[in-house]
Amino acid sequence: MQPAGLKALRQLGMIKAISNIEAIHVDGYYISYQGESLDIPYPDKSYLKRIDTTPVPGAIQRGDEDKLVSDSTLDIQEWDASPTTKGVAFQHGEFLMNLRAICLAEKNVTKLEGNVTGLVKDEFGKVLGIKVANKGEYKAKITINCDGIFSKFRKELGDDYVTKVGSYFIGLDLVDAQMPSPNHGHVILGDHAPVLVYQISPHHTRILCAYRSTKVPKREEALKYLTNEVLPALPLSLQPSFKDALDVGGPEVYRAMANQYLTARANTVPGLICVGDSLNMRHPLTGGGMTVGLNDAVLLTKMLSEIPDEDLGNEDIMLDKMLSFHSERKSLDVVLNTLSIALYALFAADNQYLKILQRGCFAYFLRGGDCTSGPIGLLSGLVPDWFVLFKHFFAVAFYACYLNFVDRGILGFPVALYENISVLVTAAFVLFPYLLTELFS
Ligand SMILES: Cc1cc2nc3c(=O)[nH]c(=O)nc-3n(C[C@H](O)[C@H](O)[C@H](O)COP(=O)(O)OP(=O)(O)OC[C@H]3O[C@@H](n4cnc5c(N)ncnc54)[C@H](O)[C@@H]3O)c2cc1C
Repeated sequence: MQPAGLKALRQLGMIKAISNIEAIHVDGYYISYQGESLDIPYPDKSYLKRIDTTPVPGAIQRGDEDKLVSDSTLDIQEWDASPTTKGVAFQHGEFLMNLRAICLAEKNVTKLEGNVTGLVKDEFGKVLGIKVANKGEYKAKITINCDGIFSKFRKELGDDYVTKVGSYFIGLDLVDAQMPSPNHGHVILGDHAPVLVYQISPHHTRILCAYRSTKVPKREEALKYLTNEVLPALPLSLQPSFKDALDVGGPEVYRAMANQYLTARANTVPGLICVGDSLNMRHPLTGGGMTVGLNDAVLLTKMLSEIPDEDLGNEDIMLDKMLSFHSERKSLDVVLNTLSIALYALFAADNQYLKILQRGCFAYFLRGGDCTSGPIGLLSGLVPDWFVLFKHFFAVAFYACYLNFVDRGILGFPVALYENISVLVTAAFVLFPYLLTELFS
């Protein structure tokens, strides 16, 4: 989870959901490219002063709901003393169980487990509640839908509201992996599609290997790809645990997950609010999904808390709020969604011009200063400003062109000129369609 996701958890008074699950704190990213590597630290804490960190009304009742306590893996004294922000990595299921326990401890929350099979609507299409298999109907002034990646109910926002699959991730569990840079998310770049590695508990490390295909990889092809292309490209210290993970064999050796993209739409259906992955998805390469979802939860709860209970069923008031929600959430959403797609395109570089951009991007990071603090500010969710994204993306593109001119030399100038024009056109094609869709959808 990115630092801005942790910030949102504090605002919701739910930060203890990362406690006692053997979570591993994350200080930043380690990027390796063709054998070279660098660490990029997360932004310093002053960045938190530039964004809203006020708690959701009513979230802090006892006074410590936004405070972390040390546990077997998280040292909060060190955390508090650190000048930089932190992210955290964990087993997702255990985090969810903690979130649920925090919700259930609220006296006005009633738990009901079941499979939602449909929505209850009035004759004008207003959503009045849900139908639950074998349990009947439940009604409310507002139904909040958060049915995730394979959402059944997002189509209520339009029949054409469907996700796009851009690629797949093949995920494996590494046991006792030796991380080249502990407490960092690792991004391994090369001729293969990008590989993401992050430790999620003292003994377990998740590795997600991007696979350039819009179709689920066949088992044989996936194993061949992992063995022949990913394994040799990994840093040496990670190779033994990766080999061990492959040797496990059987159907459990890996899981393939579709990387889906969906631009958010305004919640204009009376009585219904879609949030989380049911509303909006991006490439998981940048680990921004929970950060967007939790920040949406903060914004939404703040907005709903401004409405008296008796007005929650008022369609005009709610429509107004939902349109404000849609526009206010954009600052973060545009950055994290567009960045995820743009970085994936560069890191998975599958043509000559994207490869020039990929190399330029890594060289740009090597310059340090604003060339790393800018991009990591965006990735962490602490700089929700699309113009900063635009500026760094094209700074990378121009730097890549400059390096290409240097490489080609005077005699190669005409070739470099042609290539660089193509690089800039490619960069524009990567960024603008997504940036504009995200800004104006
Ligand atoms: C490969 C991969 C890696 C990722 N890595 C990261 C990462 O590192 N960091 C990050 O922040 N994000 C990451 N994400 C994204 C993140 O997992 C999601 O953004 C986040 O889980 C969305 O939360 P959600 O509550 O909207 O949906 P989900 O977590 O999908 O939850 C939806 C819930 O709804 C339930 N449900 C669905 N239909 C019904 C029904 N009809 N009735 C009852 N219940 C139903 C499901 O069982 C599920 O419990 C990753 C995603 C993928 C695919």
